[in-house]
Amino acid sequence: RRPPSRKGSMADVPKDLLAQIKHLEEIFTVPKETLDKIVTKFVKELEKGLAKEGSTIGDITDIRQPMNPTWCMGFPTGHETGTFLALDMGGTNLRVCEIHLPEEKGEFDIIQSKYRMPEELKTGTADELWGYIADCLQQFIEYHHEGEKLDKLPLGFTFSYPATQHYIDHGILQRWTKGFDIDGVEGEDVVPPFEKALAERGVPIKLTALINDTTGTLIASAYTDTEMKIGCIFGTGCNAAYMENCGSIPKLAHMNLDPELPIAINCEYGAFDNEHEVLPLTKYDHQIDEESPRPGQQAFEKMIAGLYLGEIFRLVLLDMHDGKHMFEGQSVDKLKKPYNIDASILAAIEEDPFENLSETAELMRVQFDLQCNKPELELVRRLAELIGTRAARLSACGVAAICKKKGYKTAHVGADGSVFNKYPHFKARGAQALREMLDWPEKKNKRDADPVEIMTAEDGSGVGAALIAALTLKRVKEGQL
Ligand code: BGC
Ligand code: MG
Repeated sequence: RRPPSRKGSMADVPKDLLAQIKHLEEIFTVPKETLDKIVTKFVKELEKGLAKEGSTIGDITDIRQPMNPTWCMGFPTGHETGTFLALDMGGTNLRVCEIHLPEEKGEFDIIQSKYRMPEELKTGTADELWGYIADCLQQFIEYHHEGEKLDKLPLGFTFSYPATQHYIDHGILQRWTKGFDIDGVEGEDVVPPFEKALAERGVPIKLTALINDTTGTLIASAYTDTEMKIGCIFGTGCNAAYMENCGSIPKLAHMNLDPELPIAINCEYGAFDNEHEVLPLTKYDHQIDEESPRPGQQAFEKMIAGLYLGEIFRLVLLDMHDGKHMFEGQSVDKLKKPYNIDASILAAIEEDPFENLSETAELMRVQFDLQCNKPELELVRRLAELIGTRAARLSACGVAAICKKKGYKTAHVGADGSVFNKYPHFKARGAQALREMLDWPEKKNKRDADPVEIMTAEDGSGVGAALIAALTLKRVKEGQL
């Protein structure tokens, strides 16, 4: 933390740059009134997504609709047992785990291998994608079970994209998000081509459950904490899952399910306000949307998720240069490459402990070949703070909306993802926004926990995926499936 005296240093900033900073503060700050407006619409959208009058899930006209039923029916007891594989297809890594759930409540053992997710794969062909994933699984099995004669191992596959599911072991990709753009997958069931790739290689695996990372996070966290009500991801993308009773889901009414039966709902709220009605978009947000592979989609996510934070920062700095406010006479070529700035750079700028922002200066020089004077450094630092704070405050809106919709006065919220885990002050800023939105009374004791607390989750795409596979097999055994 920097000493408070730093504030005074703005005195040295020339008038023009000071005006720019002031303008950025205006457009990037989200006051309580805006938060409230967002949450009001958010609650309505959550309800609308469950209602979906006159349509059935999987109906092609419904394919873009969020609030996806996951067929993960209820929480674990903590006594689930067995050995499971888990596959996490993330944006940067592909992770394969083998999880052993012993008799002891809430315990697990895990072994895992990480494989790189080559960048080209994200915009390549479907065959390349499934082939690569199957190769990784094959490698994992050969390495950990060399020479063993194996029965087919049950797998929980964390596929962190919106999918329409008629069954827990199938899922039709609604749309790619997070910069993925592979032809011929959207609108199709992803499981058959995945299983085909496994079969071609003779890999002894049976997909038991296809899950979303948020559902995995919810279930993994609930395995050890019975107060857990929501699972969230604040990472490359953003989203949440929570439990709803079947009786409260009009769009499942035609299935005559037990109304008391809980089912996890994947909100897919990265797509919140694609209509751009309540989100305080800046011209930079519009630009990101228009230049993305999927304009008009994931409006909420594009303002807050890790994939986009550096991009917002880049666009603002370029604009400052074009307007002749900064980096006069210097080449900004390195700022011209889209998606060249990782959120970790903003995090590092926010963490610069020095009064003279010497670490920020070094970063700007090394990363972008830019020599910043002191006023420019002040703007860079303030910009990172503004982008990071806006992301945290908007992120909290989704959690507040679920709490309001469900009437949760208290809750534990399990959160995972690079932004939540690594971005400085993200948790505190989010908690502050929750406090403003949920109108909590003053704390009696400073150390008291907040009524709704967003906390570090258990490993959702490893342990969570294994638990959901275990819950599914139990239901199969009991004849409920
Ligand atoms: C996806 C969600 C996922 C989230 C976090 C979003 O882009 O649509 O399915 O849960 O990212 O990974
Ligand atoms: Mg992930």
